[in-house]
Amino acid sequence: MSGPDVFETISQNLTSIRGQMATAAEMDGRKPDDVTLIAVSKKQPDERIDAALAAGQRVFGENRVQEAQMRWQDRRAQYPDLRLHLIGPLQTNKAGDAVALFDVIETLDREKLAVILAKEMEKQGVMRGCLVQVNTGDESQKAGITPEEAVAFAAHCQHDLGLNITGLMCIPPIDEEPAMHFALLKKLANQAGLATLSMGMSGDYETAIRFGATQVRVGSSIFGERPVP
Ligand SMILES: *Cc1c(COP(=O)(O)O)cnc(C)c1O
Repeated sequence: MSGPDVFETISQNLTSIRGQMATAAEMDGRKPDDVTLIAVSKKQPDERIDAALAAGQRVFGENRVQEAQMRWQDRRAQYPDLRLHLIGPLQTNKAGDAVALFDVIETLDREKLAVILAKEMEKQGVMRGCLVQVNTGDESQKAGITPEEAVAFAAHCQHDLGLNITGLMCIPPIDEEPAMHFALLKKLANQAGLATLSMGMSGDYETAIRFGATQVRVGSSIFGERPVP
């Protein structure tokens, strides 16, 4: 995909994904506007990102702070209604940069990070939305709070640290049926009284919406495969 085809392809992909999202939302008794499409632009070439912007997409997800700074700092000035979500693991030494750049941090996955994010937001005089990442599959190699601790951790971040916790996020194990993980995340969000559920990627966003997702994170289905560097 290159040249003049890029805009055409990406704008068609966006239209078709939005259509599928609307159908899935209706199946869950919700309106199409109730679910936000986060376009995951990590590792994608600039021309694909500019095509998505030209097609009207304004919410983007990135998984690395430095890569996102290079890509978005200038575009941010051009598109004041842009919304950037951090969807990858955050090291504490990058917390300040993340708070400065991102509107939403979806990967709050440990106490130490929560404390530092609260400090940085106070220092910078901003309040960003945060999602608690839940390790729904209890995978040792994956980040996230355990399902058992998630509700208490969210409450602690809100009440003791003053963070604006808006919801929960998960990345189900790749080798398992995602539906049970989506159902678990929804149950935990209900228990915690949180409205936002970030779940579902290219392969399973329709399922995620049927299980209550309010945000889906879709990369390759919009932009094509990520080029191998
Ligand atoms: C890369 C990534 C996505 C998007 O994945 P696709 O399969 O390309 O849609 C979604 N969520 C997270 C956390 C990711 O790292």
